[in-house]
Amino acid sequence: MAVTIGALREIAPQETRVSLVPEVAEKLLKEGARVLLERTAGERARFPDALYKGVSWAASADQVLAEADVVLTVQPLSVEQIARLKGTAVVIGFMQPHARRAEVQALKQRGLTSFAMELVPRISRAQSMDALSSQAAIAGYKAVLIAASRLQKFLPMLTTAAGTIRPAQVLIIGAGVAGLQAIATARRLGAVVEAYDVRGATKEQVKSLGAKFVDTGVSAEGSGGYARELTAEEKAKQQEVLDARIAAADAVVTTASVPGRPAPKIISRAAVERMRAGSVVVDIAAEQGGNCELTRAGEVLEHHGVQIVGPVNLPADLAYNASEMYARNLFNFLKPALVKGELAIDWNDEVFAQSCLTHGGAIKHEPTRKALEGTT
Ligand code: NAD
Repeated sequence: MAVTIGALREIAPQETRVSLVPEVAEKLLKEGARVLLERTAGERARFPDALYKGVSWAASADQVLAEADVVLTVQPLSVEQIARLKGTAVVIGFMQPHARRAEVQALKQRGLTSFAMELVPRISRAQSMDALSSQAAIAGYKAVLIAASRLQKFLPMLTTAAGTIRPAQVLIIGAGVAGLQAIATARRLGAVVEAYDVRGATKEQVKSLGAKFVDTGVSAEGSGGYARELTAEEKAKQQEVLDARIAAADAVVTTASVPGRPAPKIISRAAVERMRAGSVVVDIAAEQGGNCELTRAGEVLEHHGVQIVGPVNLPADLAYNASEMYARNLFNFLKPALVKGELAIDWNDEVFAQSCLTHGGAIKHEPTRKALEGTT
């Protein structure tokens, strides 16, 4: 029997993305799968039902949950949705294992197999499946546009009959995937860009995008390409240099995070107070607690004339492209498990093994298991 792959209209209020776009639905059909969709699933991402050719339409979300062998999702399924899945279902999507404990427990208790896109190993072979990166790039791009639209200044230098306008100074903190896209976007808009990251390896990447690297003399190279937490002394040294650069900036975009931990606090209240009135801080890490002490997720506030923007779910602002990229990531992840239209997961494949969150009544991701069940 052909595998049934289902996708739902996302139920989280601000979620406009969809896990399956028409192009990817077509590819799944070509693989011999049956595609079962909830009506209007793609509507908010500007993929109307009529664009999905050859798919089966479910009468309700419940039908998708009850019939799908594989459910593709953007946000984690709710506990109620998990309860309605069939016992052999496989769920693939963002699972937020650190935050969504009840959902992880529900997946485990029902003995379901789930794969978290956050856990896909960052190896070369899995780059096309890297949903964290595809969505982070969108966030970095959009954050700069938000900063630009809130500034009462041009980003580029302008030579006009009314004289020359100086270019805006933009500082990007954190030069991972989001930060590098933010640098590229700010540069395209003509700003003078500086960037900082605790990982020294980013220095060359920052320079290659035409930005200046802020050197604080502190390196925090961690394992697996991620940053480690800094010591108090290192933090103080980093802060001194950074505070001066923050004060000089018209716009600061912060993207710094450490996996599984709250976002590092990099911009203090005092640093904001040193900034010029009219400056803008866009804090992409708002949902993880923010890189700025004053950030409030989902809000824009003003402190001493400085706007502090704490956007949530930036990829959903570009739902069309975000969904396209995400759905392709999901397809590239799932494709090796589709054999002649049937599901055959190779557990020796490190991508499946490492990204598995729950399987056979157990939490397979060790840090999540420890957080939920302790060390025993
Ligand atoms: P992330 O979202 O976890 O963090 C964003 C950035 O914040 C990182 O560059 C990190 O070093 C930085 N940061 C953390 N603490 C900081 C602090 N106190 N001050 C300043 N900066 C701080 O990272 P990410 O964008 O997901 O990328 C993480 C790493 O994974 C990078 O090395 C990236 O190149 C790598 N990566 C590899 C692949 C692959 O090989 N397939 C794919 C994507 C990313």
